[in-house]
Amino acid sequence: MKQVCFGIDIGGTTVKLGLVSREGELMDKREFPTFRDLSATFDDIADHMRQVLAAFPDCQCVGAGVGVPGPVVDQSLVTICVNLGWENVDVAQELSRRAGIPVRAANDANLAALGEMWQGGGKGCRNLVLFTVGTGIGGGIICDGRIVAGATGGGGEVGHMTVPFHSDWQCACGRKGCLEVTSSASGIIRAARAFSPFKEMEKVTAKDVYDAAAAGDKNAQAVVGEAAAALGMAAVTVSCVVNPEVILLGGGVSAAGSALLDPVEAAFKAGALPACADVRFALAQLGNNAGIFGGAAMFFTDPS
Ligand SMILES: [Zn+2]
Repeated sequence: MKQVCFGIDIGGTTVKLGLVSREGELMDKREFPTFRDLSATFDDIADHMRQVLAAFPDCQCVGAGVGVPGPVVDQSLVTICVNLGWENVDVAQELSRRAGIPVRAANDANLAALGEMWQGGGKGCRNLVLFTVGTGIGGGIICDGRIVAGATGGGGEVGHMTVPFHSDWQCACGRKGCLEVTSSASGIIRAARAFSPFKEMEKVTAKDVYDAAAAGDKNAQAVVGEAAAALGMAAVTVSCVVNPEVILLGGGVSAAGSALLDPVEAAFKAGALPACADVRFALAQLGNNAGIFGGAAMFFTDPS
């Protein structure tokens, strides 16, 4: 009998639910709105799971791995989740009780890293760091095939490592000088705003700044250069701690491709500790499906 697993990504507005085989095939995917009410959300997810499984009667479902946008303790308890208005919710228990299968939970960004290890840019490796560079910077750390969630679920917050740039710029986390304030799309836009033509533009995107840099604009080149240098330094720091085989860059800004990847890798190579310098840099591959694959990986990859 074919073994399958659900990967479920619960966001503030949308739930993404996928059914994935042990071989890594995404067999079904659907999206539906997240309810304000917690009970209604879990009821709805369990309903969708039943509907999906009804279409695959020859499959054995081994479980569901669930990502939530908050810290998760012991693969089950979400202590605080601002986007969903949750406090101390045992996701594993709530959903398992309704769906009748084992459920494991993780922080959504961490889960994306696990998905990339299993079926994405880190396929075949067991030690990986993912930087998801979008409006902010999220990500995750995988050591020996396991998500590093830590004691209170706050592990893997790679966007909030301190870097020696913009040390007076406030971060969304309440602190200053985080990687996120320099290297996220918001940070790149903020830095570019100091210069023409960005100063005069009504709306600026990170892509505008990358395009200008590619076209030879010196100020834009300085801004994206700094963003890459900060990411490279953060990669050096995290590598000294967990010595990954692969470092992946994902998120909206990674659409810049080698214009982001190459200078980050160069900054890393220039500063890496020799014992931890043998790292492959690559782009994340799974996009919005990373969390779904990560959820399935919670059951299909053997971390022992
Ligand atoms: Zn921060």
